[in-house]
Amino acid sequence: MQATFDQKAFLAALERQRQGMGLRPQEMTRRQWWHAVSAALAEQLNRLTMAAPAGQQRHVNYISMEFLIGRLTGNNLLNLGWLDQVGELLQQQGVELVDVLEQEIDPALGNGGLGRLAACFLDAMATVSQPATGYGLNYQYGLFRQSFCDGAQQEAPDSWQRDSYPWFRRNESLAVSVGFGGKLVKDAAGREQWQPAFSLRGEAGDLPVTGYQNGVVQPLRLWQASAPQPFDLGLFNDGEFLKAERQGVEAEKLTKVLYPNDNHQAGKRLRLMQQYFQCACSVADILRRHHAAGRKIEALPRYEVIQLNDTHPTIAIPELLRILLDEHQLEWDAAWSVVSRTFAYTNHTLMPEALECWDEKLVRSLLPRHFSLIKQINARFKKQVEQRWPGDKAIWEKVAVHHGGQVRMANLCVVSGFAVNGVAALHSNLVVKDLFPEYYELWPEKFHNVTNGITPRRWLKQCNPALAELIDSKLNVEWATDLDALKGLEAFADDTRFQQRYRQIKRANKERLAAYVQQTMGITLNPEAIFDVQIKRLHEYKRQHLNLLHILSLYRQIRDNPQLELAPRVFLFGAKAAPGYYLAKNIIYAINKVAEKINQDPLVGDRLKVVFIPDYKVSVAELIVPAADVSEQISTAGKEASGTGNMKLALNGALTVGTLDGANVEIAEQVGSEHLFIFGHTVDEVKARLRKGYKPLSVRKKDKHLNSLLTELENGFFSDGDKEAFRPMLDSLLNGGDPYLVLADFASYCDAQRQVETLWRDPQQWTRSTILNTARTGMFSADRAIRDYQQRIWQAKR
Ligand SMILES: *Cc1c(COP(=O)(O)O)cnc(C)c1O
Repeated sequence: MQATFDQKAFLAALERQRQGMGLRPQEMTRRQWWHAVSAALAEQLNRLTMAAPAGQQRHVNYISMEFLIGRLTGNNLLNLGWLDQVGELLQQQGVELVDVLEQEIDPALGNGGLGRLAACFLDAMATVSQPATGYGLNYQYGLFRQSFCDGAQQEAPDSWQRDSYPWFRRNESLAVSVGFGGKLVKDAAGREQWQPAFSLRGEAGDLPVTGYQNGVVQPLRLWQASAPQPFDLGLFNDGEFLKAERQGVEAEKLTKVLYPNDNHQAGKRLRLMQQYFQCACSVADILRRHHAAGRKIEALPRYEVIQLNDTHPTIAIPELLRILLDEHQLEWDAAWSVVSRTFAYTNHTLMPEALECWDEKLVRSLLPRHFSLIKQINARFKKQVEQRWPGDKAIWEKVAVHHGGQVRMANLCVVSGFAVNGVAALHSNLVVKDLFPEYYELWPEKFHNVTNGITPRRWLKQCNPALAELIDSKLNVEWATDLDALKGLEAFADDTRFQQRYRQIKRANKERLAAYVQQTMGITLNPEAIFDVQIKRLHEYKRQHLNLLHILSLYRQIRDNPQLELAPRVFLFGAKAAPGYYLAKNIIYAINKVAEKINQDPLVGDRLKVVFIPDYKVSVAELIVPAADVSEQISTAGKEASGTGNMKLALNGALTVGTLDGANVEIAEQVGSEHLFIFGHTVDEVKARLRKGYKPLSVRKKDKHLNSLLTELENGFFSDGDKEAFRPMLDSLLNGGDPYLVLADFASYCDAQRQVETLWRDPQQWTRSTILNTARTGMFSADRAIRDYQQRIWQAKR
C-alpha cells in the first residue's frame, strides 16, 4: 500500500520552512529550496512512520561501519511515489525539481562497494517488507573530496553538513552510554566485572529508509559521539575549566571521520574505538527493543538476527556476551547459546591485508572485559579443535581466535556465528576452499553463498528515467520490484524500432555526461565514440593500470600508423585512492599524465580521449552508469569478491570487458558469453602461474609492443622528461613481481578489446547485445539477494 501524498500538509510544511528562513520564495536559492522541500518531506514521513509488519520474521539488524547512501531526497520521492506531485507543486512556484535535487551533498558515509551494498540492502529490505534496522556511524566528515593538481590527487575534507541535514530525526531518548578502558574487578560472587575508565554518550540520528511504493519506512540509525555531559561539573568547580571542556572535544573526535581505506586495515586505536562505540550503541538498542516488547533475554535469537557487514562490527559479539553474563547473570552455556544463534557474518575479501587482526595489547587496554571473554571463547574452541585434530599445532595456529598476540576478527565471527556467507558464487567457494577449509570441516552447514545485488530503483529507474520509460512502454509489469520481468525485453532485442529507441536513449545519456564533463573539466567529448568506463575505488587488484596499458597501446598504434582506423573511444575513469596508498595515487597520476598528452596530440584527433572524472561518488555514478557503452571489470581473478558496479553497468546496457572474477562469472552465465568479453587468467591459472614462479620481466622481454609501452613510461615521454614520475607503479609491475598479473593478462586483454571494436562496427549486433544485457540481469536485483538471505540465513530452521 502506497503512502498517500497529503498536498495540503506538504504545502503548509513547506511554507513553515520558508517562513523559518525569513525569505520570500523569489529570494530563496536552489540550495535553500532543497533544504525546505526535504525538511517538509521529512515531516510528512514522521507522520507516517510505518515499519514493515513483523509477522513471523526475525527482525534484521544490519550493522555496518559504512552506508554509502547517496542523495536521499530524490530517492525518497521516487520510492514514496510522490515525484510527479512534488515536481508540479514546485513548478507552480517557478522552481524545477531536478535543479533542486542537484543541490544535495551526497552523504558519503562509506568508501565504495561495501558501503554501497549496505545502502542497496536497506532499500531492498524496506521494499520486500523485511523488518530491519540499519546501524552505523554518523561521521561528521564522509569520504574525502578529490581534486587533481597537475594530475596528482588532492584530498579535502568532506563537510557534508550533517548538523543541518534535513532528513535526520534525532531522538534523545535513544541515547546510550558507552564505557572504555579501565580495569577488571571481582564482585562478591567472584565474577569478573568491568570498571571502565571513562564513558561517552552515543546519540541516535535516524535517516528514513523508504520501501518502493509500499508504505514502509524504517530507520538507518547512525550513532554520533558526545561527552556524557557538556561539562564534568566536578572538574569545572575545581577550577579545571579547560580539562572539563576537553572531555567534549575528545568525544567529538570519535565520530569525526570515516577511515578512507577500502580493502585494507589500518589497525589504529581510534578505529577500534569507533567499532566498539558503534557496536555497544547498537547492541544496547537491539536489547532495549527486545525488552520493551516484553520478551525474555533467552528468546533473543527467535526475534532478532544481527548481520555483520564484514568483520568491522565483530566486537558486537563479545559485547552481547558481556551483557548476558555480567548484566543478566546468565551462565556461560546459556549466554553462548544466545550469542551463537544471533550473529551471521558476511565475508567481503580474501586478501590478507584486509582481514582484520587487532593487537592484543590494544584490545586489552581499551576493552579489558571483552578481551577476557575472547580468551575464554578461544580456550573453549581449542578443546573442540583438540578433539577433532589431536595434537595438530599447525591447524590450531590457523583457526585460533587469539594467537601470537593478535585477535583475529574473521575467526571470531566464524566460531561465534551461525552463518557465514560470501558475496558471489566464485567467492563463496574460495571462502570455503582457501580461507576457512578447517571451519568448513567442522561446520559445513554454516557456509552459504548470497550473490550481491543492487537496487533497481536507484540504479535504473532513478538514474536512467528514459530507459525506465521505454521498458514501461513494452512491459506491462512493475519490473522495479520484479526485475526478472526484464526477460520480457528479449522479445524486442531484434526489433529495429526498439533498437533505435534504445540507442537514442543511450545517446542522450552520453550527451548528458558529455555536458557534465565539458562544464566541470572543459573537455569536449564526442558522443558518437565508445564510452569505455572504469569506475570503482583505485586499487592494484582492480588493475586500472592494465586499462592504462591498453590505452598506451592504442596511442602507440596511432603514432606508428597515423592512418589507422579506430572506432573513436573515450576512456572514462572515476576512482579515489586512499590518501596513504601511494602506489594507487601514482596510478592516478600516470593516467592523468597520459591523458594530458593524448588529449592534446593533434595526430590523435577524435579517435582517443582519456578523462579522469574527479570526485567519484554515488551521484557521479548515477550520471556515468547510464552513459556507458563498455564496462571495465578487469580485476585479477580471485581478488574481487563480487563487484556491484559490474551489475549497475550491465543492467544499463554496457557490455562487460571482464575477467572470470566475482559476480562477472554469474553475469556471463546470465547474459550469455557472446554478449560480453571475457579474458585473462582464471583463478586456477593465476594460482598455477604464481606457483610456477611468475616472471613479469620475461613477459616484457617476449612482447616487443608491451616493452615499447613500458619504455615510454620509464623514459619520461609522458612526464616532461621526469623518469621517476611513475616509478612506484613500474617498480611493482617489473621489480615487485607484478603480484596482480597485469603483464600476464595484457595480451589477452588487448584481444578482448579488439573484439569490442569489431562488434561496435556492427551497430545492430551491438545494440542487440546491450538490450540482452538489460533483459538478462534481473537476478542482480538486491531484492533477490535479500530473499536469499531470508531463505538461507535469517529465516532458516534453527
Ligand atoms: C557501486 C559503487 C561502487 C562499487 O563499485 P565496484 O566496481 O563494484 O568496485 C563504488 N563506489 C560507488 C560510488 C558506487 O556507486
